[in-house]
Amino acid sequence: MTIRILSETIASQIAAGEVVERPASAVKELIENAIDASATAIAIETSEAGKRLIMVTDDGAGIPAEELPLAMSRHATSKLQSAEDLFEIHTLGFRGEALASIGSVSRLTLTSKPEQQLAAYRISMDGGFIGQAGSVPAPTGSEVRVEDLFFNVPARMKFLKSDSTENRQITGLVTRYALAYPQIRWSLTMDQRLVFRTSGSGNQMEILQELFGAQDSKQLLPITFSEREISINGFVSNLSLNRSNRKDITFFVNGRWVQDAALTAAVIKAYNTLLMVGRYPVAVLFIELPARQVDVNVHPSKAEVRFRDADQVFSALQRAIRRGLLAFSPIPELNATNLWGRQAALGENERELGQPGVGDSWTQPGAAQVPQREQNYLPIERLPLLRLIGQVAATYLIAEGPDGLYLIDQHAAHERVLFDQLMAQYHAAAVPTQALVQPVSVAFPAEKAQTLAQQLPALRELGFEVEEFGPNAFLVRSVPAVFSAGDPKAVLQALVEDFEEDEEPLAAEIEAKIAGRVCKRLAVKAGKVLSESEQKALLLNLEASQSPRTCPHGRPTMIHLSAALLERQFGRTGAI
Ligand code: ADP
Ligand code: MG
Repeated sequence: MTIRILSETIASQIAAGEVVERPASAVKELIENAIDASATAIAIETSEAGKRLIMVTDDGAGIPAEELPLAMSRHATSKLQSAEDLFEIHTLGFRGEALASIGSVSRLTLTSKPEQQLAAYRISMDGGFIGQAGSVPAPTGSEVRVEDLFFNVPARMKFLKSDSTENRQITGLVTRYALAYPQIRWSLTMDQRLVFRTSGSGNQMEILQELFGAQDSKQLLPITFSEREISINGFVSNLSLNRSNRKDITFFVNGRWVQDAALTAAVIKAYNTLLMVGRYPVAVLFIELPARQVDVNVHPSKAEVRFRDADQVFSALQRAIRRGLLAFSPIPELNATNLWGRQAALGENERELGQPGVGDSWTQPGAAQVPQREQNYLPIERLPLLRLIGQVAATYLIAEGPDGLYLIDQHAAHERVLFDQLMAQYHAAAVPTQALVQPVSVAFPAEKAQTLAQQLPALRELGFEVEEFGPNAFLVRSVPAVFSAGDPKAVLQALVEDFEEDEEPLAAEIEAKIAGRVCKRLAVKAGKVLSESEQKALLLNLEASQSPRTCPHGRPTMIHLSAALLERQFGRTGAI
């Protein structure tokens, strides 16, 4: 094979692969351009998850007519003059390749008018081919329409996730940029539906509510920190607000959203020993430092940065957060119990069970794997018939079997029993439901609402009749009969978190996830005194289970003290 130079079209499609990975990456480039143009209002509109249309309109500086063809060319930028500038970047863009890249994998139309220019001009690019510019009526600013994204690269099309997942990516992105630039008026419309808008008042609290919901945003503590050349501002969660994943830790470095594992690790470390194992804080942090201290040219989509003195940044970050947490702590020492605030805010039953960190273990592969794997390898191991001895500490049941003593965790055991019941009903497609006397309405921030909307069919199969009700709100009409005494709001909130973690859970896992959540909420708590007949019923049901030894999240339901072990412990082995 002979070596040939790639045609301009193929070369830019290859380059586009780095910059435009999915619709959200195109949206990111376009809004960064609008911010660089000093826009005071940015409107984003999409249809079919950005595959049919992405349109970004701004009221910024605009592009002079004669520069339109240049704006569309690769390596054409107004933001860099010399190689030296590359080490001191004050704009979000600088590579001069976004418009060219997007235009090579879509049908792009750019309409723009600087204030002084009388008419607006429009130019288009179709799969990499630039058309003629012509004048059109339009207001000052720019409008970029991207239609049929990836129409000429079907391979890339195949890598896209479902529409709701792509929509969620876009919503998460736009909300975060809105938060970083609260002086800009933002609006996001998807398939003709207004997802959110901001007032441009500069009030970040207002936007935090969009991102995290009214309830959670009240639990955020402000951070203000500055030391030598670094300043850190933003919000971090107090200890009663935490998540099972790291997705709600967000950074902006000099106004640019970056995803950086080391920064994330520094934040988590600041909470060291304050949060239970496997729980993560919520944080939105804006780090500002001299442009020369950051190399932003390390990643094609500029999602990563490199710090000249990374240790200095990480240590500042940790101190900023620790100080922020201390400032709101009622006592001077960092004392976990006090920082927790209300006990109840902990939710769930982890504390009642006195087993920090294990309550949610099924959502953390590390913790959950061992028992689950065992479950798969072991043949079904039913319990022998057990004789109930009684309850201790209002938490455990003690029973005797032919082969020794059993200590049973009443909460975990009950979870297992409920889970088996609910899954059996589900597999028989006969989950008895209970209509709520008063339908319950639950509202979520846009991104979370989209996560939930995706799972409504699965919820329905498990007896939750939930319908969309206005933007980002849901109405719960009925619940599975076993759950009739439960709190539907709380379980939906917990479910959203579970699903957030797993972008596209396997179909087979969805129902088990939902059922697991429901049962966890429902199962009798540790600390509850059970009547003798309740204790007996629990044992009987557990005996009937096919996997009685673990709860649905993989934790053990019981400890077995075998006759042999007891003998050994008492030194009876070999004794007469
Ligand atoms: P970069 O942002 O890296 O310079 P782009 O391909 O994104 O490269 O844009 C090329 C040029 O087009 C920019 O440098 C800028 O001058 C101009 N431009 C793009 N979008 C806008 C906009 N919304 N408003 C004003 N000018 C823009
Ligand atoms: Mg750009």
